[in-house]
Amino acid sequence: MPLDPCPPVEAMQVLEVSLDRSSATSAPGYGSVLATTSLGPPVLQRWCVWLEPADHQPPDRWEQRWTLALESALSVWEEVLPITRVKSPAQAHIQIFQQRPPRRRIGSKWRASNGRSRLQVVEVQRRGQWRLEPHVDVLVSPELRASGIEATAVHELGHAFGIWGHSPQPDDVMAVHQNQTPVLNLSERDQVTLNWLYQKETNFGQLIQTSPK
Ligand SMILES: [Zn+2]
Repeated sequence: MPLDPCPPVEAMQVLEVSLDRSSATSAPGYGSVLATTSLGPPVLQRWCVWLEPADHQPPDRWEQRWTLALESALSVWEEVLPITRVKSPAQAHIQIFQQRPPRRRIGSKWRASNGRSRLQVVEVQRRGQWRLEPHVDVLVSPELRASGIEATAVHELGHAFGIWGHSPQPDDVMAVHQNQTPVLNLSERDQVTLNWLYQKETNFGQLIQTSPK
């Protein structure tokens, strides 16, 4: 039997590593506006993704609608990235929750949003070996039209998969402001940016030589 690509996490410690504006001045697509870390872009060659299951059994129609929209959003990314769906959150790099993000204070205003992604840089032990990994929580609100849930999920998953920034073009999934018509599929520019990002050198996914204290 082949080894499970997503063995459960046995131990984890969070590092004080932040996302910073990249120093790239020219890059394909909107690569030059993306944030990165001092350890390289937080990307992996294979992602383990956990989707929060419905609370009710059988799921109510709102839960069904949210799950369907999230499945569609994930399938968009599955066409371009190796993704393994996992049953337990303890196996995942990315955990997706059916939850409206808490409002955030920006200056003197409170801002609501439909989705939010939060990155932590972690050292993780799996199958006895320590690696550097991104650990991302994604919140997608269920209180939207179905196409709104799907567009929000495609966008937030873009962040989770390492695209920490926004495109200035409204027809990209990573657009800072989207048009009235929700963007549900990657544009040419999204794909070019993604390819560039995944070819960069990174410490993420690599073994950590000295075991952490
Ligand atoms: Zn965003």
